Amino acid sequence: MTERVYNFSPGPAMLPLLVLEEVQSDLLALPGVGMSVLEISHRSKICEEIIASAEAEIRMLAGIPDNYHLLFIQGGASLQFSMVPMNLLPAGGKADYIITGSFSKKAMTEAQKVGQVNVAATTEAHNFTRIPRQDELKLDPEAAYVHITTNNTIFGTQWKNEPEVGGVPLIADASSDLFSRPIDVTKYGLIYAGAQKNLGPAGVTLVIIRDDLLARSPQGLPTMLDYNTHTKAKSIYNTPPVFAVYVVLLVVKWLIEQGGLEEIAQRNEEKAKLLHDVIDSSDFYRGHALPDSRSLINVTFRLPSEELEKQFVNETTQAGLDGLKGHRSVGGIRASIYNAFPREGVDVLVSFMKEFERTHG
Ligand code: PMP
Repeated sequence: MTERVYNFSPGPAMLPLLVLEEVQSDLLALPGVGMSVLEISHRSKICEEIIASAEAEIRMLAGIPDNYHLLFIQGGASLQFSMVPMNLLPAGGKADYIITGSFSKKAMTEAQKVGQVNVAATTEAHNFTRIPRQDELKLDPEAAYVHITTNNTIFGTQWKNEPEVGGVPLIADASSDLFSRPIDVTKYGLIYAGAQKNLGPAGVTLVIIRDDLLARSPQGLPTMLDYNTHTKAKSIYNTPPVFAVYVVLLVVKWLIEQGGLEEIAQRNEEKAKLLHDVIDSSDFYRGHALPDSRSLINVTFRLPSEELEKQFVNETTQAGLDGLKGHRSVGGIRASIYNAFPREGVDVLVSFMKEFERTHG
């Protein structure tokens, strides 16, 4: 087999090796089917079964109650930036957006095309180094919903707890941390996440929507952009991304086999702590996010100079540690350590960081 490197990319990201091996071994013909998952008709029973099983396993993994629908939609999380307001922000209504990074801003920009938007809080003046405190939120009790980004992939910050939003539905873009820790779905009206970080390959977006919100979609929405189309058709209104959903199914089964979300959260905490400990104990590395806001999933940090950061990225890449270059709006380094990212890879990075500091500090 070609040697695999440690992929620290913000996504698409590493998948569990066992899942890749299962995909590989069953790629020519699914057991008992005789056709590749890449070849099956979306009107076949097996396709229905794959989608229904993916839904059932996700419900089991996260304890999602029956009054929530699970949808597999294409178009990425970016399409949800538009679908959320098109379906949930009624004419004349307004929505609260809490701005904690670039993706929150993008979500807000799409909502502004649909209706009135209130920035309930933003930490942009601090270059998104933190999540706002509850007492900073200017929430409107009349808002149609409150939108948050649970984990800010670029800046490396993460909500530790949901904001208190009263009776207003909370909508979350959880693209970079869904199922990286337990989640109480009942606190949300709608959650969406592109699969390509924690859940599977690119090409499918998971949407979890509370039943009562479906009644809000206005008449006349384009069919494909109406959540009701996808709930009624059980995500097979048109040809769904069968392969991507199939891999999500395998990843979710793997998560359950690992011990579920509590166990995964503990592993993710341990992995992040290894990196945070190096950063906290050194003057050489400086974390971008403030400690009480920092993400367990995307660890962002700077070095003393851009020169050293370039060298760090070049040398780590050569050492089989790929994708560590930070986003240009933060600079420096970003280590993305999603669910399937192995602990050993973090250990290798920690050793590299210590040695790099010893020789360049
Ligand atoms: N939201 C967040 C938090 C993300 O990290 C990303 C992608 N990095 C997106 C939205 C956009 O996702 P997509 O590429 O699936 O549209």
